[in-house]
Amino acid sequence: MSEKFDIPFKSDTVPAMLELGTRLRFRCHKGISCFNACCKQADITLTPYDIIRLKDRLGKSSTDFLREHTVPFQMDREGLPGVKLKTTDEGACLFVTEEGCSVYGDRPTSCRYYPLGHMSMLATGSKSEETHYFLVKEDHCKGHEEAQEQTIAEYLKDQETAQFDEMNHEWLTLMLKRRSMGPTVGRPPEATLQMFFMCSFDMDRFRRFVLSDNFRNTYDLEESIYQTFEKEDLSLMQFGVRFMKQAFFGERTIPEREGAWDTRLKEREEVWEARRQAEITRQQQAEDDKYKDA
Ligand code: SF4
Ligand code: SF4
Repeated sequence: MSEKFDIPFKSDTVPAMLELGTRLRFRCHKGISCFNACCKQADITLTPYDIIRLKDRLGKSSTDFLREHTVPFQMDREGLPGVKLKTTDEGACLFVTEEGCSVYGDRPTSCRYYPLGHMSMLATGSKSEETHYFLVKEDHCKGHEEAQEQTIAEYLKDQETAQFDEMNHEWLTLMLKRRSMGPTVGRPPEATLQMFFMCSFDMDRFRRFVLSDNFRNTYDLEESIYQTFEKEDLSLMQFGVRFMKQAFFGERTIPEREGAWDTRLKEREEVWEARRQAEITRQQQAEDDKYKDA
């Protein structure tokens, strides 16, 4: 095994790996003494699908949801941007109430998995990953002292993770692929990081980008596909992963218009030339100002 990807992302260790058939002694319920303790110290990393579920539940745009309910963080040393749920200064999730989670039906993936972590590994030379699980045992969580036992598969079924796993899969595979390439040389350009953020998390901005004339002039897609993107976040989210695979790894699955690359290069050259000229003018002006004062 060469590389790992996990939820929560913060774990650097590789603890004992568990399988779907492993028995788990755990039960969380409203009457337990620690009820809500985990949500009062929440450190929840969000996937693109988590964001769509939550912002739809709250009736917000993705841009508003990101601004009001998340904080940015760096997922790796190269500065890949990720988002976590915002908390109070004391660390409590903004969605926790005395009654429990106020967004329970749409709670994020890692809330569903807790107290399990979820880790995918890509064996050297293999194209498909293997999934393993690990147990997170924290002192405040008394669920481990309950008598109820079930397999991990039974626990995850109860938590309804299947839809989330399916929707997260392509994006997590992209992350895994990036990691399996090993450390890159320094931090990627800011524009690449911003593009990753938009394609992953901000469907409103990504939609505007995809429906723009620039995009349509570059990529050769049927009009019906654009119409789907206009109204469907999930199709757009899946397209975002395809687009990133093409932009970052050269996996060409989105047809480009003939000559679009040359046109783009020419346009960029014109922009660079305009910037160069502006910089020369700025420097000349600065020199003139210096001597004018003298
Ligand atoms: S989203 Fe719900 S389950 Fe997750 S930390 Fe917040 S209150 Fe707890
Ligand atoms: S048992 Fe664990 S998961 Fe359940 S409320 Fe208590 S701390 Fe949270």
